[in-house]
Amino acid sequence: MDTDAGSDSDVCARCGEQNGSCCTLVPGQEEYCFPLSADERAVMEKAGAKPEHFFRQHNTQPFLDNLNRLFPNEADCINSLFPPDGSHDRLAITPQGSCELLGSAGCGLPRQSRPYYCLLYPFWLRHGRELYFESSNCQAQREAGGGGAGLMRRLNMTSADIRRTYRELRRAWGLPEQR
Ligand code: SF4
Ligand code: SF4
Repeated sequence: MDTDAGSDSDVCARCGEQNGSCCTLVPGQEEYCFPLSADERAVMEKAGAKPEHFFRQHNTQPFLDNLNRLFPNEADCINSLFPPDGSHDRLAITPQGSCELLGSAGCGLPRQSRPYYCLLYPFWLRHGRELYFESSNCQAQREAGGGGAGLMRRLNMTSADIRRTYRELRRAWGLPEQR
């Protein structure tokens, strides 16, 4: 796996201390959590993740709607990979909304063994263009100047890291390669 996208930024540690970071969600919104491919799960398990760190989630309509927002114009592919009567692996989440792998010192997995979505967040690609998901809870966004460029600097990410990690995520999730 080629996932040496940047390195853990000090800003993420401070973020976790203040508001729980992107490793937490609002309880009740677990079904929106991104899916984990078999390859990603295998890498995580090799790094120490246990069965209790994963959850089998039905492909609910809100989950599918969210994927279709992430991958516009790819509904046929999404429906075939995640049929409405099927299910997928996701991260297990505590009743308080934290990823079960989140410890007091941050993620319990080494960076190279984390899910692609975790490595990429808050960045994404749409129609070949880099973007980031705006979040008032993201300490890096609060500290960054200069929009996306400042955010990349703050998170030790480069444009090449973002594009490579997005490509690897697509491959792992079964989406076709984009040119
Ligand atoms: S796997 Fe690690 S980086 Fe990803 S949500 Fe869980 S604790 Fe955060
Ligand atoms: S990427 Fe943003 S939300 Fe996630 S831990 Fe880092 S600063 Fe916080």
